[in-house]
Amino acid sequence: MIRRNIRNWQRISLASVILCAVWQLSGAGLLRADEPFARSKDYDLQHSKIALRFQPEQKQVLGEVTHSVALLRDGLETISFDSVGLQIESVRINKGAAKFATTDSKLVVTLPNGAKAGAKFDVEIKYQGTPSKGLYFILPDKDYPNRPLEVWTQGESEDTRYYLPTYDYPNDRLTTETILTVPASWLTISNGKLVGVTDASNGMKTWTWRESQPSSTYLFTVVAGEFVEVKDTWRNIPVTYYAPKDRGDRLSPSYSRTPAMIELFSKKLGVDYPWEKYSQAMVDEFVAGGMENSSATTNTAESLRNPKLVPEYEKNEDDLISHELGHQWFGDLVTTKDWGNIWLNEGFATFMETVWAESHFGKDVADYDRWEGAHQWFAMRSLFDKPIVRYNFEESEEFDGNAYGKGGWVLYMLRRQLGEDAFYAGLKHYLEANRGKNVMTSDLTKAIEEATHTNVDAFFRQWIYGAGAPKFEVSYTYDEAKKQVALTVKQTQKREGRVGLFQVPVDVEITTATGPKLYPIHVTQESEVFTFPSDSAPLMVLFDKGTQILKSAQFKKEKKELLYQLKNAGEVADRADAAEALAKLKGDDEVVAALGDALRNDKSTGVRRTAASSLGELGGAAASRQLLEALNSAKEPWVRGSIVVALENFKDDAGVVARLQTVAREDASYRARGASLRAIGRIKGAEAYETLVAAVNADSPDGFLRDAALNGLGSLGDDKAVPLLRDWAASGKDMDSRQAAIGSLARLQKDNKELTQVIAGYLQDSHFPIRRTAIYALGGRGDASAIPALEAMLQSKNLSIEMQPTIKEQIERLKNPLAKGDPHGMTKPEGNADDKAGGDERLTHVEQLVQEMNERLKEIEKRLPPPPK
Ligand SMILES: [Zn+2]
Repeated sequence: MIRRNIRNWQRISLASVILCAVWQLSGAGLLRADEPFARSKDYDLQHSKIALRFQPEQKQVLGEVTHSVALLRDGLETISFDSVGLQIESVRINKGAAKFATTDSKLVVTLPNGAKAGAKFDVEIKYQGTPSKGLYFILPDKDYPNRPLEVWTQGESEDTRYYLPTYDYPNDRLTTETILTVPASWLTISNGKLVGVTDASNGMKTWTWRESQPSSTYLFTVVAGEFVEVKDTWRNIPVTYYAPKDRGDRLSPSYSRTPAMIELFSKKLGVDYPWEKYSQAMVDEFVAGGMENSSATTNTAESLRNPKLVPEYEKNEDDLISHELGHQWFGDLVTTKDWGNIWLNEGFATFMETVWAESHFGKDVADYDRWEGAHQWFAMRSLFDKPIVRYNFEESEEFDGNAYGKGGWVLYMLRRQLGEDAFYAGLKHYLEANRGKNVMTSDLTKAIEEATHTNVDAFFRQWIYGAGAPKFEVSYTYDEAKKQVALTVKQTQKREGRVGLFQVPVDVEITTATGPKLYPIHVTQESEVFTFPSDSAPLMVLFDKGTQILKSAQFKKEKKELLYQLKNAGEVADRADAAEALAKLKGDDEVVAALGDALRNDKSTGVRRTAASSLGELGGAAASRQLLEALNSAKEPWVRGSIVVALENFKDDAGVVARLQTVAREDASYRARGASLRAIGRIKGAEAYETLVAAVNADSPDGFLRDAALNGLGSLGDDKAVPLLRDWAASGKDMDSRQAAIGSLARLQKDNKELTQVIAGYLQDSHFPIRRTAIYALGGRGDASAIPALEAMLQSKNLSIEMQPTIKEQIERLKNPLAKGDPHGMTKPEGNADDKAGGDERLTHVEQLVQEMNERLKEIEKRLPPPPK
């Protein structure tokens, strides 16, 4: 996440030349030489007692921290702590005054003479600061006088140092005592157990939290402010949920499945939830989607969905909740040693989402997610030639679709290849052997081999250290005389760099009138022919039944076979493959009827949604009839939403246009209504403007329909909407509506440079989501006159490094309008999270997939700290 080769120490501004020389010898010069690999260490930070007070109006923190350190080397004259922008008032060692100096990035403390390895010191630091990141203040202001006051931190990757002088790299672990003195009306949350709350002077209270199990400093957290709490338990361990004080009623509808998740993960992993409590604090304007601080997750308050909308989402926020919970084992109990191995945190957390989805929502739901995930990963083409573990990343690139999506997929394949029992035995051993330690990928392979006696080196070499995935071309012939199927399998991925030939186990299933037969094969060559007995010409041949391998496959099949597969294949992925392939067979009534049947009757809502999308691609009167008919019966809001999106393709069909108007006005599903409003904008039919403006002015839960209509006005492209959009973009309006309005404004009057400057003005907004929206809006607008404003933002000293790729990407879009796609495979939120908001009618299918995935990732975990204030 960070550019490792930044040499901050070259910008030393020490008062003392002598100290400077010492510093270069024993401090940064030594440490920085290791990165991007884990730092070498001079000392072990064992415990920190951290006392903080806040001055919210000044956005200031007043701190007193006592670090208990043990030296790891002889001959050290100084030790240094990471510290950026903090004013250090005093430093004491073992209660005696100590010499210190500061640089741009370090606090360097002089040790007593002759200190030896093993010597222990208490280093007490008094400081204050107004952090540019790491610690955030959300305050009421004149435009939002009633918003709850919040103070919260976000450490990962290396931002703790902006509010706390400390050892700020993952490869050390410490216990903590956190002492927070805050107004009596506030709640506080930090790592570990709440030891007590005592009265302090001036109407303040002091909260003491103690974490007795060591973890890394990026996992340290403080949340404080005007929150409300809901208490729950799991096996006598406190499980708590916190919301800003005006949204306490939203906690239980979204979060009450947490204890069931803790139970499931504890049982599956064979290692009980390891911390003394589990809290989830939902905060406004969070710079990530969720953050797995040890025992105390912080999530975006966007996950506190309006209870009226909760039933409209198949899994509600369970992906986010299970992801962050999964990290409590993978990431917190066992922590990556360096950022190059970040998949050991993120791939596992992504995999744990699947574990929960399978258990709670069923295999079909989890399988469809995985099928979609494979498509999405392939759509991020820039990831293909990069291995999961690598060190040549820039900025926050390592938090990419390889660490998350592909990492999760790889663990799924490993489970399948080892078998459920062996896989979990391996994970249990990995967790137990490395409990409380920092790890590399080799620690995982070693643990699996020790527990299962199965060597997984080849598997890891291929999937983790190698890049890419197999791209297959498959075909078959049937020999009536020999009663034999000959299956030709070719690997077509370009073999260069770290992308090689793949060796994968594949299940082939051949179905004839006498039933299905399964044949496991091992594909190892560039081109191979496999033969199988078959009593008659097959009704269906499946290559990689159920999509168990991360791959793409071009398998040319006759219409007849695809129709059979759509109706009869047992696995969701195979039916979804068929539904997708049938979208290429235009002008065929039988195909349309079969897809209509799948849309109405398949038992998987995922397959139904794919069938809807294929009918939309096929077009024609017969397809629109099927979609409209399905709209009469489909109950699930997420299916209705997909049907509406598919109907966008029929803009010349008066019946469709009229129906979208009806759905927008009165459908039982808010998601279908929202999708209709966006569709009406894209279709640009009669009365579109009036319908959208009416929806902007109408009520719905959390302005859900208003935001969809504001979005639709951008697609509609009618400049009449500019004043209305400028109104809704203005400070004081609902934050989601502002984002929708800014996104749409950027799509109107594209030659109007004054409007470009209005949007560029939002780069300076005091609210992070608005700044983030403005960056994307300007990139999409295509007016190069916005480049200086974006470049100025990029030059700012306070800019979170994680934000840099995003801004650079948008500048690149403006400089080179034809460039497409997602060069970093990064999370890239755009507009609202729901239903392709902020979409563009020119999006191709692939781009839509990428966008949907980005939105999904946004929900899960976006790591985009804010631009400068
Ligand atoms: Zn994560």
